[in-house]
Amino acid sequence: MSDVDVEPADPRGGAVDHDEAPTRVDVLTARDVPLGGPRAMTVRRTLPQRARTLIGAWCFIDHYGPDDVADTGGMDVAPHPHTGLQTVSWLFSGEIEHRDSMGSHALVRPGELNLMTGGYGISHSEVSTAGTTILHGVQLWVALPGEHRHAARDFRHYVPSPMRVGGAEIRVFLGSLAGHTSPVRTFTPLTGAELLLEPHSTTTLPADSAFEYGLLVDRGDVRLCGTPLRAAELGYLPTGNDTLTLTNETDAPARAVLLGGTPFEEQIVMWWNFIGRSHEDIVEARTAWQNASDRFGHVGSYDGERLPAPALPNATLTPRINPAHH
Ligand code: MN
Repeated sequence: MSDVDVEPADPRGGAVDHDEAPTRVDVLTARDVPLGGPRAMTVRRTLPQRARTLIGAWCFIDHYGPDDVADTGGMDVAPHPHTGLQTVSWLFSGEIEHRDSMGSHALVRPGELNLMTGGYGISHSEVSTAGTTILHGVQLWVALPGEHRHAARDFRHYVPSPMRVGGAEIRVFLGSLAGHTSPVRTFTPLTGAELLLEPHSTTTLPADSAFEYGLLVDRGDVRLCGTPLRAAELGYLPTGNDTLTLTNETDAPARAVLLGGTPFEEQIVMWWNFIGRSHEDIVEARTAWQNASDRFGHVGSYDGERLPAPALPNATLTPRINPAHH
């Protein structure tokens, strides 16, 4: 996916007072962002936002659907570049055709992880397939730490087996959760999992106290450690918790995506589809893309032009900083 919302988040605003409860969950709401294209499919973005830039190394959460592609036109994101990050495509419904400048050609399907590493530079296109009627899923980005931010291009596909834990069925696509571990390499300690919660169920999952967590609710109403979250909301839980308690008090199944990781301490500069450490990093990446440099390679078999980078703002791009939690 490509970030067409190029306004950098304001890192200064958003200080919020909180109660001093032992387990405190911040509720982050989504804003609608059109992806572009002729009919402009819209996504719900919960990260980054004013109140929060990162959860672990997770730095971008787009949530979309369920959309009838007859109405929205589906997904058609022309070839575009990435630097300094990994992209995770995770679907609940539908199918997306992924092509990248490594020559990867993959079909992204529900319950299957597709992880693309665009360290120094990669480009890709994403198009929902003709057979897709309902498109529903998430697109996530992971920031690479400084020592790996120029990592070689890579693409991994992995299908986690569903596991039963209490009243939940979980699919661990990255990292570890409740004794289940994904074999796919991460560059910082991370967790990523889909959770299906039975009606009238409470599930207690072991947490890593060094991790902060985000729970994106896809469907239904879920309580995270007592705090109610509605569909499309993201609950943020700081470090220091040994368990995560998930409750579905309703008559319908609920679904959520759990993301976690150790707090990412480096300052990053995030603009369009690039992550760097400085304004100059971004200018260099943008220039390379505009000049069709080998840095990003070539995506074959896309019917149309590649995405041009937007104009840079007049101001110098500055790092995004997580506001202090307290
Ligand atoms: Mn992308």
